Amino acid sequence: MSQVLPATISPELFAQRADAIADAARELAAAGWTPATSSNFSMRIDDDHAAITISGRDKGRLGRDDIMLIDMQGQAVGTSARPSAETDLHTQIYRRWPEMNVVLHTHSRTQSVASRLFAHEGVVTLAGWELQKAIAGQTTHDSELAIPVFPNTQHMPELVAQVDAWLDSGRPLHAYLINGHGIYTWGRDMAETRRHLEALEFLLGCEMDLRSHSV
Ligand SMILES: [Zn+2]
Repeated sequence: MSQVLPATISPELFAQRADAIADAARELAAAGWTPATSSNFSMRIDDDHAAITISGRDKGRLGRDDIMLIDMQGQAVGTSARPSAETDLHTQIYRRWPEMNVVLHTHSRTQSVASRLFAHEGVVTLAGWELQKAIAGQTTHDSELAIPVFPNTQHMPELVAQVDAWLDSGRPLHAYLINGHGIYTWGRDMAETRRHLEALEFLLGCEMDLRSHSV
């Protein structure tokens, strides 16, 4: 599958982003967070473009050729490859936050179970955990970190609308769960986004353990 780049995008930049996505994907796959070709990952290229994983590829074997270019409407650019079915959730984040450059979406066991367990509340409220400080802007364990749980659907405009509704209500958003599905989180660069994802995986596991021991 060949990728033709617009003249405004340097091949070196695209290759660098594609490699960063593929490296992260293989590492997250090794952790068991991307079962059965699930999950998708992207990085911003410029104001109008992002690099994203091609649909259906094994994330444990991802390479540069498994990454494609899209525009901020989620359309393929310069390739006949098909982007992830959930591409609109990535472009939504890039459009809402010009400072965000990476979006990671995984389906770990902990994320999947937590989403089911907290779905009826519509939110996981994390409080009192030191590791909340791993999330950008969270300076103390005393603050509350709300991770909404949105109902799952195969119809992306519905999910996009739910995310928009949360943001339009003025509440902060650093990540969200989709019921029975997985988590989305983002950041300014790959290191920050990986930190968010790992912290949330740990915090969701802790919160479930705590609830299972509480009466
Ligand atoms: Zn998914």
